[in-house]
Amino acid sequence: MSNPNYGVWRPMAENVEFNALESNSNAVMAVADTVRTTLGPKGLDKLLIDQAMNRHVSNDGVTILLSLKAIHPVARMIVEIAERQEQLVGDGTTTAVVMAAEMIKEGKRLVKELGVHPTKVVEGIESGVKHSCQILVREAKKISLNDIALEQIVQTSLSSKMDGQKLSPLVILALRSVGKNALYNESFDFDKSIMVIRRTNMDDRVVNGIILERKRMDPEMPLEIKDARVMIAKLDLKPVKESWLKENSKYEEILHMENDRVTKSKEIVDEILATGANTILIASPEVDEFVENFFVSRKVFAVRISTEEIEYLSRYTGAKPIRMIDDLKKPGILGRADRIYEDENNGVIYLENGSGRNIVTMIVSGTTKETSLERWRAAIDGVNAAEAALNNGVVAGGGAAELHLIEKVKSLRLKGLEQVGLEVVTAALESIMRQILTNAGFNGLEKVMAAKASSDDFGIDIDTGETVDMWKKGVLDPLLVKTMALQAAGEIAKSVLRIDRNLAAEDLSLQAVSETKR
Ligand code: ADP
Ligand code: MG
Repeated sequence: MSNPNYGVWRPMAENVEFNALESNSNAVMAVADTVRTTLGPKGLDKLLIDQAMNRHVSNDGVTILLSLKAIHPVARMIVEIAERQEQLVGDGTTTAVVMAAEMIKEGKRLVKELGVHPTKVVEGIESGVKHSCQILVREAKKISLNDIALEQIVQTSLSSKMDGQKLSPLVILALRSVGKNALYNESFDFDKSIMVIRRTNMDDRVVNGIILERKRMDPEMPLEIKDARVMIAKLDLKPVKESWLKENSKYEEILHMENDRVTKSKEIVDEILATGANTILIASPEVDEFVENFFVSRKVFAVRISTEEIEYLSRYTGAKPIRMIDDLKKPGILGRADRIYEDENNGVIYLENGSGRNIVTMIVSGTTKETSLERWRAAIDGVNAAEAALNNGVVAGGGAAELHLIEKVKSLRLKGLEQVGLEVVTAALESIMRQILTNAGFNGLEKVMAAKASSDDFGIDIDTGETVDMWKKGVLDPLLVKTMALQAAGEIAKSVLRIDRNLAAEDLSLQAVSETKR
């Protein structure tokens, strides 16, 4: 452990007893402290440096957590939960970690100072989280595509990101361009309709259609095809394998094989083109050079694509992927697009006006690879926030929704010690606004008190320090981000509080093996 932040963790030597709660909670605090100052729009950045002295500046909780090298095993758990949060809702990771740290701090106080049994604290956390989420769900407001609230959700989500102000209009434009096309089973799934690519040499832009970061298979193929009849080919385009040649094959055998290759390649190309296709998107593992050459001579536009791209291209053009020669005879296999062309300067291929579902591509620029990566992540976060907001509703941001939950949760009047456990959750609910404001240079505690005394939805204007209705100010968060963050924080806190001892164990992976063998 070279990192002084994690000095609290020493390797678990045999026969050494640990005060597990103390050690584990210190580890969580250390991790929380590395990300808490990034929370909110005025949060600070972290400079990440790896062994090769590569540098990367980030403000994104999960990016920072994932890049931490030396880490306590319990803290590793936080990183995993933050990662899951990121995957499920794409935002709110710092919030989750800050709340978890607060829950653990408060839980530890109850256990150590007041002698409350950890099980009771854990029960209190469980019911506190459950009730908080229920109240939040009840209070959340539905929004739709054309509401100003959608813009505000995106702006709030991007406010703490690099270049967030510039990216918001781009994200909003993309969302509204695809609109209801992104509806699947009555809920929005923008991943299917918005492609986000990052380019250091192109400007920020939303383009109707698909942009492939690829070149034509051969520079002699046409640069452009109008009225493209599109085939997505997954079938084997290498009819004769070189490996079939034996080591000491005779000259005639080789010649025969070569002739066979030419004939079979031509047959395949003929069959493909007989369908009427003039544009072939190729996801086949291998393509024979002869096949490629025949495509060139028949003036076909062919480009290699990845398996991931198949889905988008199929949805956009209506083409059904061809797996076997027999598939070529089926009706309706071809898709259509008004135009496909290569922009040779930028090294990309555009597909316009597909006849399937609408798809847009958001080009995110950046002067360096790192900035374009950070901006690219931010743009995706903005899209995810909007999706969560449209599907599940919206609550007041800036920690206001959490803060005003406190009284409601406290008034639940649970029996006995469970009520005490609830305080662990309410402490966490207060910590979000406090941290956001502390990071903005205010006396967080004082401002939180002021906000608490005002009505629901009121928080603190981060620029003036005055109390303000967060809905009027347009600082809004998706409900889902808040409930997921609360649940994630609760999970972390419960596991840490439940552990009463860290023990040095034999190799646990080996143990698992021997158990399954039994
Ligand atoms: P996370 O990783 O948890 O998403 P962020 O750094 O993105 O952390 O901060 C999110 C928090 O910042 C949310 O609670 C959000 O409401 C709050 N926030 C965003 N913009 C503002 C603002 N203008 N004023 C106050 N709070 C804001
Ligand atoms: Mg965020």
